[in-house]
Amino acid sequence: MKVRTRFAPSPTGKMHVGNLRTAVFGYLISKKHQGDYILRIEDTDQERKVEGALELIYDTLKLCQMTVDEGPLVGGSYGPYIQSERLSIYPKYAKQLVDQGDAYYCFCDENRLVGLRKEAENNKVPFLYDGFCRHLSKEEAEKRIATGEKPVIRQKVPKEGTVVYDDLVYGKMTFQNNLLEDQILMKSNGYPTYNFANVIDDHLMKITHVVRGNEYLTATPKYNLLYEKLGFEKPIYIHLPMVVDEKGKRLGKRHGSVSFMELYQQGYLPEAIVNYLVLLGWKPESTQEIFSLSELISEFDPKRINKAPAKYDIKKLQWVNAHYIKKLSLEDLFAITYPHLEKEYGKLDKKWTMHLVKIFQKHLSYGAGIVGLTRIFFHESYEIEKEALEFLENNDKSADVINLFWEKILKLDKWEVNEIVNVINEVGKALNVKGKDLFMSIRIAVSGGMHGPELPDTIYLLGKEKINENIKKVI
Ligand code: GLU
Repeated sequence: MKVRTRFAPSPTGKMHVGNLRTAVFGYLISKKHQGDYILRIEDTDQERKVEGALELIYDTLKLCQMTVDEGPLVGGSYGPYIQSERLSIYPKYAKQLVDQGDAYYCFCDENRLVGLRKEAENNKVPFLYDGFCRHLSKEEAEKRIATGEKPVIRQKVPKEGTVVYDDLVYGKMTFQNNLLEDQILMKSNGYPTYNFANVIDDHLMKITHVVRGNEYLTATPKYNLLYEKLGFEKPIYIHLPMVVDEKGKRLGKRHGSVSFMELYQQGYLPEAIVNYLVLLGWKPESTQEIFSLSELISEFDPKRINKAPAKYDIKKLQWVNAHYIKKLSLEDLFAITYPHLEKEYGKLDKKWTMHLVKIFQKHLSYGAGIVGLTRIFFHESYEIEKEALEFLENNDKSADVINLFWEKILKLDKWEVNEIVNVINEVGKALNVKGKDLFMSIRIAVSGGMHGPELPDTIYLLGKEKINENIKKVI
């Protein structure tokens, strides 16, 4: 049988990294087996729908190069792929369950349910619908519907026994039926709930592996009961461990800062984000950590997914991202850094900026990080660092080196890196100084600090005028 996985997001806001990781794992599983990857939009909860969320989903998958074989934009044989466009499909199955006695109409109004919820809260027990309408006869229910009442349809979960299922990550899962709620399958407005639609759609779309967050582990027994009652074959379940923040809290849409788009806009590369996310909760057999998408496809084995919550660690993401940044062409490097520089410092000359970002390429862990690394090239004034000042005070050659360098550099006509190198060498030769005595003295004089990119590049980028200004501060 052809492997078919699906990513089934709800368009309720930004795509956070936990969500994207689910998308990636599903993609890898299908592609590892030359299978199909399906995008299904789960928008049955219309109230939670957010404008623009759909486009964010499409754009994210595209940027991450996870090509969808079937979905709202590309179509496919099992469409439509947006649940709100499939509303005519679900009632038939709900009706079948009602007719079989595996579901029932429920007329309990919101007031009654609010009361039940309060009661559960007071008794400190989880809320479970009490089955008030469970025993209404079909005739009674139909009579009430004929008079205009609008019921929901609830699943009739057996009160005895257990449901057992296997999850590829969590192993054997056992649940007692009496703790499972008679969940709503169809709402009174004609929409299915997610809990119902996911079962129907996974079946109709011939999904073989259901890959989703572990928050669905406890609802899955109810889905399995539905599969059985409807005579559908169950899929293989792969529930993924939570992604948590540094405090151990589940990452969610509330954590706006960890949405894919925000990371992307900060100059994290989609390939690096995908690479990092796969390492969140999954371990390859080797110690390799940097993987291209095609390497991931061949290496990925869902059996190596760890059950423990996976901690989202921005430092590790930066480390992975830095690897990818080092391989960027100059044009691409410019593209992910320039907008941040321009935002901070205004319009900049392209040739000069290219030189700037090139020398920082190996130090950069994300695009926006360029701003912090390059401040000395923009700030009008700078403070000489304490350790730099101490160096100058304790070095008897510094004053001569700086003075001669100053004299020579102001006379330099051709402002090019190799010319600047010549000036530095001439100073060294003339005064018979080399190493730190030469380079550090000049570096401090021009930049105020003891660290930074290559000295000739630093001088070139600072420009003659700024160097002149800066040297005046130390002499
Ligand atoms: N629409 C669900 C969500 O966004 C997907 C759950 C599933 O994959 O079955 O959480």
